[in-house]
Amino acid sequence: MTDRPQGFDTLAIHAGTAPDPATGARQVPIYQTTAYVFKDADHAARLFNLEEVGYIYSRLTNPTVAALANRVAALEGGAGAIACSSGHAAQIMALFPLMGPGKNIVASSRLYGGTITQFSQTIKRFGWSAKFVDTDDLKAVEAAIDDNTRALFCETIANPGGYISDIPALARIADLKGIPLIVDNTTATPWLARPIEMGATLVVHSATKYLTGNGTVTGGIVVDSGKFNWSASDKFPSLSQPEPAYHGLVFHPTLGSMAYTFHSIAIGLRDLGMTMNPQGAHYTLMGIETLGLRMERHVKNAQIVAEWLEQDPRVEAVTYAGLKSSPWHRRAEALLPKGAGALFTFALKGGYDACVKLIDNVKLFSHVANLGDTRSLIIHSASTTHRQLSPEQQVAAGAPPNVVRLSIGIEDVADIIADLDQAMAKATA
Ligand SMILES: *Cc1c(COP(=O)(O)O)cnc(C)c1O
Repeated sequence: MTDRPQGFDTLAIHAGTAPDPATGARQVPIYQTTAYVFKDADHAARLFNLEEVGYIYSRLTNPTVAALANRVAALEGGAGAIACSSGHAAQIMALFPLMGPGKNIVASSRLYGGTITQFSQTIKRFGWSAKFVDTDDLKAVEAAIDDNTRALFCETIANPGGYISDIPALARIADLKGIPLIVDNTTATPWLARPIEMGATLVVHSATKYLTGNGTVTGGIVVDSGKFNWSASDKFPSLSQPEPAYHGLVFHPTLGSMAYTFHSIAIGLRDLGMTMNPQGAHYTLMGIETLGLRMERHVKNAQIVAEWLEQDPRVEAVTYAGLKSSPWHRRAEALLPKGAGALFTFALKGGYDACVKLIDNVKLFSHVANLGDTRSLIIHSASTTHRQLSPEQQVAAGAPPNVVRLSIGIEDVADIIADLDQAMAKATA
């Protein structure tokens, strides 16, 4: 390897991996093993003391899973990463080192529906809470952060509407308040946006979506920038003070830029057990090899479909930030110059009933609760992914009852449009 920094598509294929040292296998083998034989008692002790990096038990680390974590860390420009059993697991894992009973996060009101439910309901069982704000109102964001706030959370391209978050502005507020900005980069992927370069501390992914890219894996990733000074205040004692759950180890600054990553493995994965499995990691690694090629086609198709929908008299509105009519168009151009993603909603004239008819009449599109597949996908968010939300939350999240969400695939765009055209004809007849 040379010192020259490698490009995105090279890293997508090579980062985190090398030919298998035991066999020379070129593709990353699926290390389907639970445990690893220690060289001797001293070696085992050194591993458990984090004095030497190596494999102990696959709930903590596994070579296939580590290859995936290291590859995504490289693509996001982070210091380290942790692969998890799902995107939702990754969100809990991301918060775990930061939070404690009585602590809160400030989160965008425009999030994946499941995340709003996880943050507004389920995390309360841990004594954590979330305050939701419109993150375009920077004054409201600042006002919502109090002495017990431990993170600010947003999505790069917010599901389902395709709204673009002002990551640099939110990062400045987080910096000012001495807390990390966590960005869910699932719908953008590092090919479209690298939140760490815009000032984010942590990036989370549902690897289930574009990273794997073909609807075969449920997985998640947490990437740490390695840049946050956890010892600057007494807000993050689990990282900056002797950690009783790891025989008094002070993770930061002892482990430097890897403090958060090691904490997440040594305590988070050890005790919460939200580990990714090696087979899932292998599929995701293969998916990532073509991430750049796929995203290029996803955004190209999405732009064409959104423009076609916008000029169609049967359509009331299209939310795609790649359209000049979008209030987020300029921000998309500034922050995501390669494209505004492939996820957006549109409102059909005829409201709820027309939306349901549309969904029942598509043929190429699949009606599923997923996104980021090679296949074009469609769903009515208000009655599915955002169903647990109140009507007010649905509107705030961009999922009112009269819109459908599209995840534009990489098929021939003429076929995607033809399918929508015939279904819209039936829905508005
Ligand atoms: C799907 C999704 C999640 C949750 O990920 P899972 O892998 O389904 O647990 C979180 N955030 C966003 C933006 C998502 O699209």
